[in-house]
Amino acid sequence: MGFSTNLQGRAAHEALLSRQDAELRLLETMRRCITNKIKCDRDYAMALTTVAVQGQKIDRADELAGSLVAQAWKGMMEELENAGKLVKSNADLVEKETLDRLNALCTEKRKARKQYQEEHNRISQQFNTLTEEVIRKKSDYQKHLEFYRLMRSRFEEHYIKCFGRKPKPSTYLNFGNRQRCSHPVSQGETDYQNCKNCWGCSAGRGGRKLDDVRDKYQRACRKLHLVHNEYVLLLAEAEEHERDFRTVLLPTLLHQHQTVLEGFIVSWRSIMRELARLWNFASHQFSEVNTRTEGHLEIIKTTEEYKDFTEKNKTQPTEPVRLCFDPSLVDDTSGKLLANQLTVDNLTVEWVRSRMVDLEVKLKECQEKQAALHLQDTSDVAMHELRAENRRLLRQLDVIKKALNDLGCEELPVGCDLPLDNSLDNGQDNHTADILPPKRPSLPNTTLTGSSSLVDILRKPFRRKSVPSSPLIGRSEDPSSGVGLNDDVTIVAIEPSPSPPTLIVPDNTTLINNSINVQSLSVIGSSTRSLVEEEWFHGVLPREEVVRLLTKEGDFLVRETTRNDENQTVLSVCWGGHKHFIVQTTTEGQYRFEGPAFPTIQELIMFQYQSNLPVTGRSGAILKQPIPRERWELNNDDVILLEKIGRGNFGDVYKARLRTSNQEVAVKTCRMTVPDEHKRKFLQEGRILKQYDHPNIVKLIGICVQKQPIMIVMELVAGGSLLTFLRNNASTLTQKLMLFMCRDAAAGMRYLESKNCIHRDLAARNCLVATENSVKISDFGMSREEEEYIVSDGMKQIPIKWTAPEALNYGKYTSLCDVWSYGVLAWEIFAKGGTPYPGLTNSKAREKIDSGYRMPAPEGTPDEMYRLMLRCWEYKPESRPHFDQIFSVVDALCSSYR
Ligand code: ADP
Repeated sequence: MGFSTNLQGRAAHEALLSRQDAELRLLETMRRCITNKIKCDRDYAMALTTVAVQGQKIDRADELAGSLVAQAWKGMMEELENAGKLVKSNADLVEKETLDRLNALCTEKRKARKQYQEEHNRISQQFNTLTEEVIRKKSDYQKHLEFYRLMRSRFEEHYIKCFGRKPKPSTYLNFGNRQRCSHPVSQGETDYQNCKNCWGCSAGRGGRKLDDVRDKYQRACRKLHLVHNEYVLLLAEAEEHERDFRTVLLPTLLHQHQTVLEGFIVSWRSIMRELARLWNFASHQFSEVNTRTEGHLEIIKTTEEYKDFTEKNKTQPTEPVRLCFDPSLVDDTSGKLLANQLTVDNLTVEWVRSRMVDLEVKLKECQEKQAALHLQDTSDVAMHELRAENRRLLRQLDVIKKALNDLGCEELPVGCDLPLDNSLDNGQDNHTADILPPKRPSLPNTTLTGSSSLVDILRKPFRRKSVPSSPLIGRSEDPSSGVGLNDDVTIVAIEPSPSPPTLIVPDNTTLINNSINVQSLSVIGSSTRSLVEEEWFHGVLPREEVVRLLTKEGDFLVRETTRNDENQTVLSVCWGGHKHFIVQTTTEGQYRFEGPAFPTIQELIMFQYQSNLPVTGRSGAILKQPIPRERWELNNDDVILLEKIGRGNFGDVYKARLRTSNQEVAVKTCRMTVPDEHKRKFLQEGRILKQYDHPNIVKLIGICVQKQPIMIVMELVAGGSLLTFLRNNASTLTQKLMLFMCRDAAAGMRYLESKNCIHRDLAARNCLVATENSVKISDFGMSREEEEYIVSDGMKQIPIKWTAPEALNYGKYTSLCDVWSYGVLAWEIFAKGGTPYPGLTNSKAREKIDSGYRMPAPEGTPDEMYRLMLRCWEYKPESRPHFDQIFSVVDALCSSYR
């Protein structure tokens, strides 16, 4: 759509001019706005600089030295200042360059409009002039035409007058060519008819008059013809000019002007682009400022923020303010009042009682509030306040209870030597006076409350519950625990309050947890003990064991693991499954998860436990209940190795002594170099054994996983391995003893079968001989607690000669496989330690068994016993007897010796 074809008309021309005027006005508006914007930007830049300067002032404060937040803020302010500078320099650029360009464009456009208008006028004017000339020429033409007609009619009139007739057309035609005749006009000839060839001369018939008319006519005619020609030429010129104007001049002018205007649009757009670039707050330059601003924030590290500050302002821990009872106060009380001790006597008993009830009610309320807050997951401050109140109440109750304990249950001391009467009542109510003994000896307890003891009465409605004795609460105040008393920890349980039990830990922090078990509570809280001493520290207890111990949401324990030859401390928590968090060590050697760092792992765990904060934001895991070591998790240091008594698959076996009880034990050690996977297998034996209690099963005392080497502690079975015993005592072994040994083994195996335990390695070498030659089944390293166990990972180190065919062929283990092995064990016993299938290799023996071969009875084997062996070696497991049947048979055989 070009101007040249579409804007030729007059109206379009006017519109084009108006459009250019409008554009000029728009340019003017833009110029004004840009000028204003420049002003605004400069003001803004100045304001930003002022703010930045103001913001940087805080940096002068010395108290904030080393603060990363302050440092980051300073960086932010610097960037704010930079942003201000950028805004200003952009505003300068707009003024210097963009605005200049806009002004130039404005001028150019004005000029172009003017040129266009002038050119348009000029070519239009040319055409108009020519048109006017044509009109003029035409009217000239008409005038000459009229004059010619006049002259002609005059001539005709004269001619008719002279000749009586109208001139012939030829006369008109020849008129112009007529020769002047030779007749002299002076002769006066009148007869024109005689001058045939001369009709116009004076000698002709018309005379002079006709000649004049004839001349005038002739001139008019000539003039007319000339005008006519001029008119024709002028028209030709005008026609040509009109076509040129329409098809060449005007379109060319319009086209050129369009090109010029479009050229302006290119500059205009470029100016506006430049503006957009300089006004863009998301431009590369501003983005850089933003990126740098954000970069400043990166330096803020929660744990580093107060490092310098703490270092600089470090003080010694505040000395506790000792609030002591002044002993001089009780100097004159003849021992009735003791410093810092509650006095319970007939004067105060009622007060003590009401005070105690009062305190216990308050305690109950406090604990209920704590439980409610606990559920609400409310602020720490509120919880700590309640805990503090709880501690205060408990402390007072303790003072009362101590006084009561000291008093015993029998009789109330008399507070005043003088008999009490109402006048000396000293504020006590009458009821008290009624029920209290007036003087020694004191009133029997029954006087007070029927059959209840004084202490019982005082303790209503809450009764103090003694803390159960347990190896785990060796630190409790209960002397009956038999383990060292630890004053640090006090356990108080109140009945019948539904409130959770409360624990006062050494730093006087009271811990409340709805689901906490009183015993486990004793294990949290001491930062004075080493980590290994903490009850919730489980050493290198394998993960499978850990998972088994953590059953409820919030259950947790701490353990150690080795990864890439590096020891790591791990917090294991039951929280939507089992989560294991590696304790991080900071560069300062402190310990942390995501939160604050602490100098000891105990403090870290204590913090997590008390704060109710998740260990990590992602896991949300909250520590609710510490899971203490189980009874059988012993301290490595409590085991003193004495002498080596054997050699096991994983390490040496020692005779040892327990430091705590002096008991002699057998200890299986696991070499430190053994891979973790094997260590788990090693501990498997302990895990299985710990549930069993039978005279013919070796007893587990515990496992030591606090540190390396890990150990399994068992009862010491003095006679050692049965195989060695048989071989060493072959000459003296009696049939009776051998039968009893078989009976013991059957009894042990019957027990195992009843527990769904498959031993998988029953053999004389894995049985032990105890006092009085009784036999105990040992070595549970391959055992499985399943009815049926299918081996899927190959059959490495299988005792071929003791293993049933279905286990060898299909890896399928049941107790009936143990029955097969029992047959071989019985054979070993009667063979006095002989090797089964003598002279045969493992594979040969296996081959022969598959082909139906069975070992013959060793010499001296009772027939019944050999028959039993053969039944144990039935190829099909279902044809073999179960251990209860075996036991019955062997027991029956033994009975003949009793
Ligand atoms: P492993 O299961 O690692 O092969 P064993 O249970 O066979 O280890 O023990 C190796 C040796 O250590 C036994 O043959 C025995 O002499 C001795 N032994 C193992 N346990 C005891 C124990 N409870 N009392 C006495 N000696 C033991």
